[in-house]
Amino acid sequence: MTDRLITAGIDIGSTTSKAALWEKDHMGPYIIGPSTTNPRETARECYDKVLQEAGIGTDEVAFIVGTGYGRAKVSFANDNVSELSAHGRGAKNILPSARTIIDIGGQDTKVVLLDSNGQMLEYVMNDKCAAGTGRFLDFIARSLGIDVNDLAKLHANSDYHPVRLSSMCSVFIESEVINLVNDEAPLTSIVQGLHHSVANRVAALVKRIGPVEDVVVTGGVAKNAGVIDALERNLHIKLRTFPDGVDPQIIGAIGAAIIAKEMFLKQNR
Ligand code: ADP
Repeated sequence: MTDRLITAGIDIGSTTSKAALWEKDHMGPYIIGPSTTNPRETARECYDKVLQEAGIGTDEVAFIVGTGYGRAKVSFANDNVSELSAHGRGAKNILPSARTIIDIGGQDTKVVLLDSNGQMLEYVMNDKCAAGTGRFLDFIARSLGIDVNDLAKLHANSDYHPVRLSSMCSVFIESEVINLVNDEAPLTSIVQGLHHSVANRVAALVKRIGPVEDVVVTGGVAKNAGVIDALERNLHIKLRTFPDGVDPQIIGAIGAAIIAKEMFLKQNR
């Protein structure tokens, strides 16, 4: 088995469910799908799909670790770990210089500070306020008739200037956005303003414990280059990105798969 040691990480998030395989010291295939009201079944489906993608059976996976908001529902996992540990381990492994990891997911934002060996020194999280999250961006984008994947393209247009959104709460920001639309403010400026509003909230959290460079962003919102640009301007630092082909949304599942490998090796020493 250790000749071809394959482990799996299953990350059941508030918005998406992910499964990733890790083989010895490199990434295997991975799957990202929507989370559902039946996390138990979704976890199983994600796992089946990733095994199918890899062309292997369950007996070829040595150890499975669940993570994310629904980690307790990954009934077939051998163990589970917090998202903080999973994102920290995944990010450090893929980008060894990473010291500050900012995970911006569907429902919350977490910032993890690592020492140079990858041990977690400190963390902060915001799971009380919807205004700095992916779901908030999804919701506003939908009400503006924009696909969330197109937000970054609009943000990149430098002929416009971001509107200033002064509200702190997602409900009030939404009314501000509706008023701006009625006042015929350019959509591009509204989107840029939204990204700055999300980035301001995330940056406030980051500044509570750092940042110590290198800083990298994980989670689905890391794929929104508009939020990344606004965050870089606020923090006055260049955020690092993962090597080509590594999706920042899958870092938690990869971290869980790496921890699964370590747990397996410890048990079988
Ligand atoms: P969770 O783990 O909490 O389920 P994710 O880390 O999967 O959350 O992030 C989900 C969020 O990622 C979505 O709400 C969406 O806003 C954002 N997202 C995903 N893909 C993209 C993309 N291509 N462009 C912009 N935002 C994206």
